[in-house]
Amino acid sequence: MSDLFERPPFRVVTFGHINPIPLMRENILSFFSIGKKIALDFLLPPVCLSCFAPTGQAKLLCTQCFAQLSFISEPFCPLCALPLPFSLDPPPTTLLKTETPSNPASPCPSCEQAPPPWAQARAALLYDEAAKKIILPLKYADRTELAPFLANILAMVGKDMLSQYHALVPVPLHKTRLRQRYYNQAALIGHSLSKVTGLPLIVDGLIRNKKTPSLEGLNRQERTIIMTDAIHINPQRQAALLNKKIILIDDIMTTGATLTACCQALAPLTEYKPAILVMARTPPPDIARPYKESLT
Ligand SMILES: [Zn+2]
Ligand SMILES: [Zn+2]
Repeated sequence: MSDLFERPPFRVVTFGHINPIPLMRENILSFFSIGKKIALDFLLPPVCLSCFAPTGQAKLLCTQCFAQLSFISEPFCPLCALPLPFSLDPPPTTLLKTETPSNPASPCPSCEQAPPPWAQARAALLYDEAAKKIILPLKYADRTELAPFLANILAMVGKDMLSQYHALVPVPLHKTRLRQRYYNQAALIGHSLSKVTGLPLIVDGLIRNKKTPSLEGLNRQERTIIMTDAIHINPQRQAALLNKKIILIDDIMTTGATLTACCQALAPLTEYKPAILVMARTPPPDIARPYKESLT
């Protein structure tokens, strides 16, 4: 766990054989940092990360914005992370030995027919208008302060999965895109998630050496063709990735073509299929409306 979560704001100063001055200094600095926070909250009151309405606490959503998010909860397909129709059938008793999905539901018919190259997938949200308001500003508008908030959500929804794997690897950006954006949003989320969970982040484990156009609006087949051979292992991180159980981190999963390319790149290095943990899953058009309506 990050020391941010574990370290109390003050420590008890004891005058034994320990020199008290460093501890006193730290306490005074802590006091001033709390004072600075109070002053900052007074001058710039905390606002919602999505709509900028005043909130009682910084770095959170207001209750209205939070209520609009469509969290994906069980039952969902353990392979494509899409919501499944609710069933009263008992979960299957036989599960894979080394790749136990945290979600015991059976895969959806589409994944049964053509299983993806990963062991399991989890998405926190359906990619709807409310999700776009907290994901796209991180991607396109330098709102990097959203990354820790999104990572906290991933830590919550991916809790079972995170306890089964060895390391986090973000989906890479091509260096040209990285130069334009200055950061990889998946890596920022991964960095915050690593701080919260303690799982190591291999930030440059994968590299994208083929400059691909935007995949927006393309179907699965078109995306697969574009992404073929686009992602490779970073030779300098080969040892770190060897035989590791990897969780691939991304912001949005649409058809899974990019994540498939990542899995194919990792396959020669590890016998374990990676897991996928993403902030939001684009629902097929036919599922989006009934699912949203069932929530209202
Ligand atoms: Zn709000
Ligand atoms: Zn599925």
